[in-house]
Amino acid sequence: RKRENTINFSPGPAALPDEVVREARENVMNYKGLGLGVMELSHRSPEYTALNLQTQDLLRSLLHIPSNYQVLFQQGGGTAQFAAIPLNLTPSEDTTADYFITGMWSQKAAKEGEKFVKVNHVLSKADGGYMTIPEQSQWNLTPGAGFVYYCANETVHGVEFPEPPDVGSVPLVCDASSNFLTRPIDIAKHAVVYAGAQKNVGCAGVTVVIVREDLLGKCRPYTPVVLDYAVTAKAKSVYNTPPVWSVYILNLVLKWIQKHGGVEAMERNRVAKFQSLISVIDQSGGFYRIPVERRFCSHVNIPFRITVAGEANSDLEAKFLSDAAALGLVQLKGHRSVGGIRVCLYNAISCEDVQKLASFMSHFMLQNRN
Ligand code: PLP
Repeated sequence: RKRENTINFSPGPAALPDEVVREARENVMNYKGLGLGVMELSHRSPEYTALNLQTQDLLRSLLHIPSNYQVLFQQGGGTAQFAAIPLNLTPSEDTTADYFITGMWSQKAAKEGEKFVKVNHVLSKADGGYMTIPEQSQWNLTPGAGFVYYCANETVHGVEFPEPPDVGSVPLVCDASSNFLTRPIDIAKHAVVYAGAQKNVGCAGVTVVIVREDLLGKCRPYTPVVLDYAVTAKAKSVYNTPPVWSVYILNLVLKWIQKHGGVEAMERNRVAKFQSLISVIDQSGGFYRIPVERRFCSHVNIPFRITVAGEANSDLEAKFLSDAAALGLVQLKGHRSVGGIRVCLYNAISCEDVQKLASFMSHFMLQNRN
């Protein structure tokens, strides 16, 4: 299969813009005429120092990050942040932290959090799956909690917060891994916003952590040094060897976003792409069925089932996946815990890509509906 004939709807590591891949390919062998490739560049070299600081500045300008926030790069993915958050923000295991559990990723964050804090669930347990976010009147928030944690967009279950939850003055922490830079985010409403790069802004290996400055320097004494936000901030994210390649790719993707109109343009594309997909689903008379309540339905990771007589039909779903793959539409299988189909509309997926998928879906329905 050729790259130019393939549309990769993977949840992550996800598709990168062709322009980025092309430029990276040049620099694998010889970065800026230095005679060595970007992966071979010293992290103490002037070239990497410039790249690192420029990448942080690009994030600042694209997201309009206020000056009292630091932009950090850490490793260990979103999963390392599940521990880094309580270790940096709370003094002891006696602290209570509030978690919104709206899908698999916030559930995993809370499970890891239990090692470090008393976890309070803001929402009552979602029997029968994650399909909505209950009204504010039903939230069980702890006055004076160490922090409130939420996942802006659940990659597996497809539940997305339309707005950050209003939790008063308690520090608010956001896992933005799967919708980062697909829409504007009001950083000032948050204590910490973090995102792994491998979905919307690059490849695996680097996690962007945006943290309010007054929260630095309060981590527990036994916090691993690589997760200590203050140490990372002081060293401008080169305390130890950084993932040079991943930061380089992040840099290229951020420049690509900037060139194509910034987060505001990504936001317009996000809405247009979602509309193309959702109109096929809405006109399918229930053949394609999204379990999530529409108000909270993710615009970025859209899971759905293919139904026959109201029941999900895994044989038809398998046929959908193989017919789609034959046309170069790949990585559409739902997460193993929920089954079905999942469409991921990250930044590198274009409106034309989604139109091709939508047209395939219309044909598939006509051919396979009884
Ligand atoms: N948070 C969200 C929303 C995710 O989708 C993922 C991974 O897909 C993670 C956290 C964990 O990230 P990682 O695998 O980089 O540790």
